[in-house]
Amino acid sequence: MMIVSSPENIKSLAHYRELSQKLARAEGISDEQAKKMSLEGKAVVWIDGGLHATETVGTHQLIETLWQLVSRNDRETLNILDNVIILLVNANPDGQELVSNWYMGIQDTLKRSYNQLPRLYQKYVGHDNNRDFFMMNMKETRNISRQLYIEWMPQIIYNHHQAGPAGSVVAGPPYRDPFNYLFNPLVVTGIDEVGAAMISRLNAEGKPGYTERGGSSFSTWYNGGLRTTTYFHNMIGLLTEIIGNPTPSNIPLVPSRLLPDGNTPYPVMPQKWYFKKSIDYSLSLNYAVMDYAARNREHLLYNIYLMGKTSIQAGSEDHWTITPDRINAITSAYEKDQKSKKKADSTNSPSRGNQGTIPLKYYDKLFKNQAQRDPRGYIIPAGQADFPTAVKFINALVRSGISVSKAIADFKAEGISFPAGSYIVKTCQAFRPHILDMFEPQDYPNDFLYPGGPPVPPYDITGWTPAFTMGFKYTRVLNAFDGPFHVRKAFTDACGNLGYVWWFNIGGMVEMDIGTA
Ligand SMILES: [Zn+2]
Repeated sequence: MMIVSSPENIKSLAHYRELSQKLARAEGISDEQAKKMSLEGKAVVWIDGGLHATETVGTHQLIETLWQLVSRNDRETLNILDNVIILLVNANPDGQELVSNWYMGIQDTLKRSYNQLPRLYQKYVGHDNNRDFFMMNMKETRNISRQLYIEWMPQIIYNHHQAGPAGSVVAGPPYRDPFNYLFNPLVVTGIDEVGAAMISRLNAEGKPGYTERGGSSFSTWYNGGLRTTTYFHNMIGLLTEIIGNPTPSNIPLVPSRLLPDGNTPYPVMPQKWYFKKSIDYSLSLNYAVMDYAARNREHLLYNIYLMGKTSIQAGSEDHWTITPDRINAITSAYEKDQKSKKKADSTNSPSRGNQGTIPLKYYDKLFKNQAQRDPRGYIIPAGQADFPTAVKFINALVRSGISVSKAIADFKAEGISFPAGSYIVKTCQAFRPHILDMFEPQDYPNDFLYPGGPPVPPYDITGWTPAFTMGFKYTRVLNAFDGPFHVRKAFTDACGNLGYVWWFNIGGMVEMDIGTA
């Protein structure tokens, strides 16, 4: 990872990293303090490339971006360097080496290709290295998550991929529905804002072919991709899928993509396409993101604090998540009541302008139903048959920046006894959406082309819940609870190794974990 900023900022990196961490965690600070810290802090922007090593634009735009940032002295670049700390990350360096060696090893330059690559560019998981970001089975994923959720807490994460749909140059934010109902709305509008800055920059520079929303299949529903897991941590995650290859290619003629519309305001015409053009586009997009961050530094820092604060609040009181199933349940209850009512009074018909409304008492059926509250926390009891699997799950949470506690004595919660050594995950944390998503089922909204029509294929898998698939036992606790709990915190030692420490609730260190990575 290359860290790029002004010489002044580089001198105080540790300080700015701490501000970024504190604002993202939103623990024990007031709005006033958060405002002061946002004014003082620097925006943190992560830009990676090469996760999928055959997508060669990703790696090469990083090198060009680094060169531009450290060699240019124009007003925009200097303003970016003054206000932003940029993390440039080659997400799969071994893969890059493998792909480059294979491609360059073919002597006839016109025959060079990655098509017959002899092995996966990620030894164990290949292309699915981008499906590892809640479980973190791979060392690479662990290291990336550590930078994202423990060390730097960037407000914006830009994950470069290729390629977009035929007849476009690049597909990117904002994305089509459905988004995940666990997200803070500021995540969604943040993607809109940065996405607009990216598209406008290309348009202003005369670079056509960007397609957003329904112009491509990408959505924000899934958790587990480098980009998508950031949403569950209150971060603005960006994905672009661009065309381009060191071997020149062609933009084909796709008639349905020629007319400008809301998805593709500035369509690209068929033409021969060179690698350099894709690098230029990527650089423009990176600059759009970095310039946005420089101009909106305070907002970005304060908003991530606000999102964290909202999560902590939601986990500290009775709170209900609105899911598609729950909406269907109140609609069905209403329809059932209507049917029996109609038998008694056949003159009843809905008035114009009121279509779709149902009486408020059905809302109360959801929001006064105590059994449907979100958990205040989860308890994973020690002593269960396959406890080591539960520990693996806990480690995945900790590596994703979640605080986990461990009971040092037997305790009771909601009338149930739990043994010492049980794990506790409370939901009053900034990254609460990630906690809920790891323990609760996903409820993908009905998405049909038209009523009665075929389903619209989702972009990625629609359900995952590792707490189910791993098969360990846990208890959902719906009321406030406490006990003899130590909190597990991740830390980095002087040599840069990631380790874990158990803390007392009051803050003193009690026990070093054996799990130093
Ligand atoms: Zn990719």
